[in-house]
Amino acid sequence: MSITTRFAPSPTGYLHVGGARTALFSWLYARKHGGKFILRIEDTDLERSTQESVNAILEGMSWLGLDYDEGPYYQTHHFDRYKEIIQQLIVQGDAYYCYCSKDELEQLRTEQMANKEKPRYNGKCRELTGLDEGREAVVRFKNPVDGVVTIDDLVKGDIVVANKELDDLIIARGDGSPTYNLTVVVDDMDMKVTHVIRGDDHINNTPRQMNILKALGAELPKYAHLPMILGSDGARLSKRHGAVSVMQFRDDGYLPEALLNYLVRLGWSHGDQEIFTLDEMVEYFDLDDVNVSASTFNMEKLLWLNHQYIMNSDPAHVARHLSWHMGQLGIDPAADGPDLVDVVKAQRERSKTLVEMAVASVYFYKEFDSYDEKAAKKNFTVGSDDVLAALHVKFLLVTNWSGESLHQVIVDLAEMLGLNLGKVAQPLRVAVCGSAVSPAIDITLTLIGREKTLARLEKAINHIRNQK
Ligand code: GLU
Repeated sequence: MSITTRFAPSPTGYLHVGGARTALFSWLYARKHGGKFILRIEDTDLERSTQESVNAILEGMSWLGLDYDEGPYYQTHHFDRYKEIIQQLIVQGDAYYCYCSKDELEQLRTEQMANKEKPRYNGKCRELTGLDEGREAVVRFKNPVDGVVTIDDLVKGDIVVANKELDDLIIARGDGSPTYNLTVVVDDMDMKVTHVIRGDDHINNTPRQMNILKALGAELPKYAHLPMILGSDGARLSKRHGAVSVMQFRDDGYLPEALLNYLVRLGWSHGDQEIFTLDEMVEYFDLDDVNVSASTFNMEKLLWLNHQYIMNSDPAHVARHLSWHMGQLGIDPAADGPDLVDVVKAQRERSKTLVEMAVASVYFYKEFDSYDEKAAKKNFTVGSDDVLAALHVKFLLVTNWSGESLHQVIVDLAEMLGLNLGKVAQPLRVAVCGSAVSPAIDITLTLIGREKTLARLEKAINHIRNQK
């Protein structure tokens, strides 16, 4: 059997962590089985759907590398098809016009609440025959009254719901527009979706959707409802827990693979392995291993993973992502300065995010305006100008600007002046970087380059002498 999964976001906001995990699990399942993964934008709620959200979802998918074999489909392009199915259900007696007014329904609800009954439609219009042309009507699905619906959920196991718990769902509004449960059903049927993988907030919809599918004679897909993602305080993950938008993670300096790796472990495990290449994820992923209970989003673990990916990925790959962050800081690393790949190699052990790495790499490309106050106070002490001046002279004589030669110059000078290495290297570091933090000084100097190093030394010497 060939497998088809879909990710079906409603474009009413950005692509958030929960959505991205649903997309990832659906994508993995399709890829694992050599199946098809579809992206379907569920934009029928015209008031809440925006083009901006559509773009944000597409951008998020693309940044994560979750490619789709079909789509993006847009439900708003399928209105004719939904109408056709609604008509079909009416004609075959599985749906009916309901003329009950809002007031009537409200009254019914109040009565039911007063009697401590579950509010539900009482089926008043169910047996009406003929169409009352003059009055606005919704269309309701004629849910079976007897029997049960069993969801053979691939994550949660069997879930049995009695039909008498389900009332007759509205499938078309008064203006004829289809409702969510109808559109999902029609598209899942038409797109021959075999596995519906989605958040467990949809579990209540599933038996209703299954009944409609049965009425349409469609083959039922298999369902897998994924457990919720919680914030550290145990509440459902939301904006107030910090970044939840996928693109915010890009902005905050995460690599997409690190986020994917983090997401795959949110509710799924494979032994105690933590780090998975994409190929491994595809190979090992299975719905059987998805947790039944909710999982908690742990920012620190994501940060740890990100650092692992920064350290262990191909530096050229990291550099491509870092380049974007340098751009955000107004720097074009291709224009002037060291090869960004070398910068990555120098910085990757010390940077947990690409933002950290970018901010800490600005001085390789751009002059700084001032020295870090604490670092300057500590290192630009009396006499440090002479140390820097001596270094300047020695550096001028270096013909081969390599880490090795530069290191030797520093060691020799320290020895000659009877200073420990730090007393030479630290003022030098502040002079060329503006702060006391940088990779090993020889690497730092090779990255900054001869010309900039000499110019910055002169500037620092003047700065120290002027403050005397
Ligand atoms: N459009 C729905 C949502 O964004 C998902 C529908 C589904 O996966 O069946 O929550």
